[in-house]
Amino acid sequence: MKKIEHIGIAVKNLEESNKLFASLFGEEHYKIEEVASEGVKTSFFKSGPNKIELLEATNPESPIAKFIAKKGEGIHHIAFAVDNIKSEIQRLQKEGFVVLNETPKKGADNKLIAFLHPKSTNGVLIELCQEIE
Ligand code: ZN
Repeated sequence: MKKIEHIGIAVKNLEESNKLFASLFGEEHYKIEEVASEGVKTSFFKSGPNKIELLEATNPESPIAKFIAKKGEGIHHIAFAVDNIKSEIQRLQKEGFVVLNETPKKGADNKLIAFLHPKSTNGVLIELCQEIE
């Protein structure tokens, strides 16, 4: 894994949180993107070399809706950039990590993504992401 690509934060109301984080960072979000397959609407902020992704559920079945119902708003996942997501998935499976989707799927921000189950990573949902060329 190369570096932390972004940190994902689950929020109830994206519009309100966009205002909150804009005043926190002193800068507006630079993109909003809906990922229909995941049931989320996301916005991205830059914080120096790092990114923060805010995620709002777009339907009650969304993983974000379930997360908020269980734990409330807050940090949802940490995403790491990888060069080759398929080989990284294989490597991590060999190491005993539970990969939630063995076939990478298309995520926000032009990325192929895969998640590791938090039960295999001390309760932290880990996202792998590879830039789509
Ligand atoms: Zn993410």
